[in-house]
Amino acid sequence: MFNNDFRVKSALVLIISRVLPSNHHRSHPEAAKSKLRPECGELDQLTILKLGGSAITDKARECTPDIPAIQRIADQLRAYDLPLILIHGGGSYAHPFVTGSSIDRGLRDRSQLRSVAETEFYLSQLTRIIYASLLLRNKLPVPFHPMSFVTFDEGKVKRVLLDPIRKALQAGLLPLLHGDLVFDESQGIGVLSGDLLASLIGLRLGASRVLLGCDVDGVYSENPKTFPNATLIPEVTSENFHLVLDASRGPSGDATGGMGEKVRQALRLAKNGCECYIFNLREKYALARLLERDKIKGTRFVPWTNSRKSSRRSRRQA
Ligand code: ADP
Repeated sequence: MFNNDFRVKSALVLIISRVLPSNHHRSHPEAAKSKLRPECGELDQLTILKLGGSAITDKARECTPDIPAIQRIADQLRAYDLPLILIHGGGSYAHPFVTGSSIDRGLRDRSQLRSVAETEFYLSQLTRIIYASLLLRNKLPVPFHPMSFVTFDEGKVKRVLLDPIRKALQAGLLPLLHGDLVFDESQGIGVLSGDLLASLIGLRLGASRVLLGCDVDGVYSENPKTFPNATLIPEVTSENFHLVLDASRGPSGDATGGMGEKVRQALRLAKNGCECYIFNLREKYALARLLERDKIKGTRFVPWTNSRKSSRRSRRQA
């Protein structure tokens, strides 16, 4: 797996780094204009945006980024100036190595350690590609690797350290995270999906919206790729939520649970008062319009409650 391809992929990283002039950020007038955000306990208007692996990579081909898709996403983020956290999925940079070594079922023998190291290597390559696309558009990302700030126990989140991310936001930077492998106290290693990370951070930091972008328009009555007559479910409330749970129950063949995991995390957010969307990142301008709060085709999870008390409690529990 880690053979001559390595040279090709390293070359890609080199090319990307050379596209960026070393003093680009310092010299650009837009960068000079960016100010520190005031220190505040609450990051009002915080949005969490997950870039699904299905939308930014070719999931059928190992370590293959969809560069035009990443560039279109970065274009749509260019003018957005409110607090934002970006989380990218692993797509074909992580799933083949994670499922191939069964590391998603825990660390059982030393031979799996190689897959851990390789998964981290490839994930950071994908981060770097997104990072470069954003820097070139005068956005100022800083990467955070969840393996360094989250731990699990028995497959569940045990500890999270969010202070550095909070500080980065307050400084006016753009935290760039990804779904990751994390250390698990009882199973050795676990998989923290980008969707779980989005809801975890969204609830703990009190985000106003979490946007889960993928390669389909939202949640359908059945998988639209295998059932072309499936219908889109545009709005999910406390009344009809069982519809999306039933629709997304099928096997995903994916290390992070596919649409089922997205739906579970979106419902968790909505139940705790946070608005959430599942939408198509490949659809032209859908992201820019959603950021502007325009109506788009997608599935909106309506917050079940807006009370501040409930969202404060959920932040403690998340
Ligand atoms: P990502 O990698 O972007 O997080 P996933 O591949 O995990 O996204 O999930 C998106 C995929 O879920 C779609 O490509 C679609 O084929 C599949 N899917 C399964 N069931 C449904 C459903 N009921 N509605 C929409 N998509 C579904």
